[in-house]
Amino acid sequence: ATATPWHYTDAAAVAGQLPPRPKFSHKGTFGHALLLAGSRGKMGAAVLTAGACLRGGVGLLTAHIPGCGYDIFQISQPEAMCLTDKQADFISELPELQPYQAVGIGPGLSQDPASLAVLRQLLKAAAQPLKKTGHLLPLIIDADALNLLSSHRALLKQLPENAILTPHPKEFERLTEPARDDYHRLELLREFATQHRCLVVLKGAYTCLATPDGALHFNSTGNAGMATGGSGDVLTGVLLALRAHAQLPAFEAARLGVYAHGRAGDLAAAQTGQAGLVAGDIVRHIGPALAEV
Ligand code: AMP
Ligand code: MG
Repeated sequence: ATATPWHYTDAAAVAGQLPPRPKFSHKGTFGHALLLAGSRGKMGAAVLTAGACLRGGVGLLTAHIPGCGYDIFQISQPEAMCLTDKQADFISELPELQPYQAVGIGPGLSQDPASLAVLRQLLKAAAQPLKKTGHLLPLIIDADALNLLSSHRALLKQLPENAILTPHPKEFERLTEPARDDYHRLELLREFATQHRCLVVLKGAYTCLATPDGALHFNSTGNAGMATGGSGDVLTGVLLALRAHAQLPAFEAARLGVYAHGRAGDLAAAQTGQAGLVAGDIVRHIGPALAEV
């Protein structure tokens, strides 16, 4: 085996990588993202992911959510647009993808068979290059969308190149196998990213980003205050915003998103303390965190 290229993501690694906002830019310049998220009892996941995506600098955001979430979502995220599914409690339909430059799926999704069908359709659609750009549709896959992949592993073969997957260790174990120890988990991580030609963000205290060429990038930001419900949804939103932006390639977007998410958590904790930190505090500090890089 060849030696693993290990990297460390510090401020210098991401300096200057946030695409500039040119004076004559308009909301179309920064991409239109689609978020597929939420189910009854987990609409907060959709709200947090959407908030993070908006703060992450996306031009436009549309969320496709279950019917029960309409008022919740529109009231809590007035800057986003909203499509409702015919089902009240979970998502069962995939909207027309043509308007979007990136799609995020998973936070609060549920594992209903109807949502599995949506994930299947999305992967199928994403296998074809986009007519406009010739690129593959950027995907961010998180939470229950990862759990659905775990229980239907044949779908892993259909992941489009450079999809970003964001499992926490338990979700990663479901996708692969129980790790003997932390080092073994990193080996499994490398194998998975190289085999499936995707970017995998293994989340934790030192979040590790694995690339399709087998490199591992450890993140330097973040704190234990972020060990709280909804933190991961916020990361998905930031990544979705950065991928909707045509200028940033998948790896750079993933590395910058992970760094800025942790930095937003650090800025938030400086105000709330770690115990008092909630995921919404991370959302509110994404702007300042991105402004630093
Ligand atoms: P999730 O489990 O999907 O909500 O994701 C949790 C998020 O919070 C991930 O982005 C983790 O990297 C982050 N996080 C959780 N615990 C810690 C910790 N102890 N130190 C730093 N970041 C953490
Ligand atoms: Mg999560």
